[in-house]
Amino acid sequence: MFLIFIRLAHHMQWLPEGWCPSVVVIDIDGTITDGKKHLSTDAVQSLRRLEEAGIPVVLATGNVRPVTYGLWRFLGLSAPMCCENGGVIWHPSWEAPVLRAKADEAKEAAVWLAKHIVGVDAQGIATNRWRESEWCLFPDEPLEAIIEAVKESQWSHLSVVRTGFAIHLMEPHLSKGEGLRYLFERMGWSPDEALCVGDAPNDLPMFDFLRWSVAVGGAFPAVQEAADVVSPHPHGATFPPLVDAILARKKGDAP
Ligand SMILES: [Mg+2]
Repeated sequence: MFLIFIRLAHHMQWLPEGWCPSVVVIDIDGTITDGKKHLSTDAVQSLRRLEEAGIPVVLATGNVRPVTYGLWRFLGLSAPMCCENGGVIWHPSWEAPVLRAKADEAKEAAVWLAKHIVGVDAQGIATNRWRESEWCLFPDEPLEAIIEAVKESQWSHLSVVRTGFAIHLMEPHLSKGEGLRYLFERMGWSPDEALCVGDAPNDLPMFDFLRWSVAVGGAFPAVQEAADVVSPHPHGATFPPLVDAILARKKGDAP
């Protein structure tokens, strides 16, 4: 059994024939963290190896900018960050972040909702205090009632989307794919040069936009379905063999 697993892992085809990414884009939650939200130290070491080999790593996440920046700094990354699911694009060397939507209207909608639906907490989740392009209510608020109320309100142009950790009130154009489109244009990169890794439905627009997509083991079924490659390893354990394959290809050792 163990031998079979080793053989499978050894023959894993991580990359398309004859192609090597020059940029790697990764999700954070569920991709380089495990089920307990703990960071995978294997993933950390692998991402460093990519940067040392001159392959920049882009964090593309639903997280807010301060959280993403902390991770970026301690991982030792060099590329700009795509935060709040494409709502905020930033590199510390830029004068200001690029805000692709404003949180104000979404926050106003949350205050209005709290007046109209009993029990809704307008303050929402703790990271709202740093949110710049959207507003997040607690995930267990009454989704159907919120969707109906927003539809009839002056904020009917906002999307109401539930993820594992929040109900997002956001402008409908925001996605990791659209945010990365801006980031890649600004950096002069082509989406054809990039590989991405993710685990959840908010990664699907990024999978569509970039050349090659990898779903980590434990990813949502729809995400495994959409990916070019599904990792046989859970979450962050995907990175050591994936990065081995990328660096071997870059050196020209592997077909
Ligand atoms: Mg995720």
